[in-house]
Amino acid sequence: MIASSLAVDSKLPAVGTTIFTVMSRLASECGAINLSQGFPDFQAEPALFEATMQAMRDGRNQYPPMAGVPELRAAIADKLASLYGTRFDAEQEITVTAGATQALFTAIAAFVHSGDEVIVFAPVYDSYVPSIETVGGKAVYAQLRFPDYTPDWDAVRALITPRTRMIIINSPHNPSGSVLSAEDLAVLAEIVRDTDIVVLSDEVYEHIVFDGRQHCSVVSHPALAARSLTVSSFGKTYHITGWKIGYVLGAADLMREFRKVHQFNVFTVNTPCQIGIADYMRDASRHLGLARFYEQKRDFFREQLRASRFELLPCCGTYFQLARYDAISGRSDREFAEWLTRDVGVAAIPVSAFHPDGRDDGVVRFCFAKREETLAAAGEKLRQI
Ligand code: PMP
Ligand code: GLN
Repeated sequence: MIASSLAVDSKLPAVGTTIFTVMSRLASECGAINLSQGFPDFQAEPALFEATMQAMRDGRNQYPPMAGVPELRAAIADKLASLYGTRFDAEQEITVTAGATQALFTAIAAFVHSGDEVIVFAPVYDSYVPSIETVGGKAVYAQLRFPDYTPDWDAVRALITPRTRMIIINSPHNPSGSVLSAEDLAVLAEIVRDTDIVVLSDEVYEHIVFDGRQHCSVVSHPALAARSLTVSSFGKTYHITGWKIGYVLGAADLMREFRKVHQFNVFTVNTPCQIGIADYMRDASRHLGLARFYEQKRDFFREQLRASRFELLPCCGTYFQLARYDAISGRSDREFAEWLTRDVGVAAIPVSAFHPDGRDDGVVRFCFAKREETLAAAGEKLRQI
């Protein structure tokens, strides 16, 4: 260990280790079933690995173009055109990123100036606010309504000031699984109409929407598409969260600014994985089948908990299920999640971790991106409390 005597003026004094890391570590220490951090416990298909290894053998191992390999950008453009009816220019309007986290950080760094305000919705995904604060911006919070986690657009309207530079939306929403409707997007478009506000739309769960709903992407709303940066993640779609590859979409003038920052914080993303994904995603059934795949897991997990004392909240999308536990315990959600991990043997995420003010509604988040045997084993434990 090296002891430093520097007086560090932290840019993020309130930030510790993320709750996902904390709970996954505790789960592993206790040997608990880990339904906390969001990642699958099953493999992606061999075809994806074959295509990636072939790219390595073919010598595609050097820097790709800064915006991503042309094959992948073309495949993304084709997917978007067939899904949302919008044709993005692969040269100027699509950039491959090192996961959604980097895309979000880079977008914030490219557009938010010191002192600018960024509206986020609480509960809020953990990376947004530290990213805003790192670049000197100020997060302004709009509360989603409890317990259905829908936005109150009148409250959002009231938060807009001349300093509002950006609004970050996330649908399907982590942690709640709520989704924005076409009407929500229409109201948002109307709120930002005569402003220069950039919309940053986190759509990493775009293919995980249930019960026959269609994902409402800002990409399919022309007025919003023109002022948005839209972020997605192959980690969620193809069961490869550890590959850290995603992409960002945006009009050419916005993308030009995005790339100015992108080229100096990552420059490019690893080549063979991009080529492997480009090859794999040409078969549209691989992303189109995802909703059904996860819907079955959601239903299986909910069935496991039907005879438990948890109260399950609605889950319209994502691979997360929220549950109220007030019939079981009066503890804070952090204490409850720790007790659940240590004493019951199932790890979950306390939803207060997504609330900047620590608001605690007595709700924990379970990840159901797991094999049925994992979900059944967790269900057995959770039914006993
Ligand atoms: N946004 C949301 C809402 C997420 O849930 C996640 C990951 N769980 C990310 C962004 C980050 O995605 P990536 O792993 O591709 O960086
Ligand atoms: N986004 C994942 C989740 O919500 C975790 C990603 C991370 O660990 N940073 O669980």
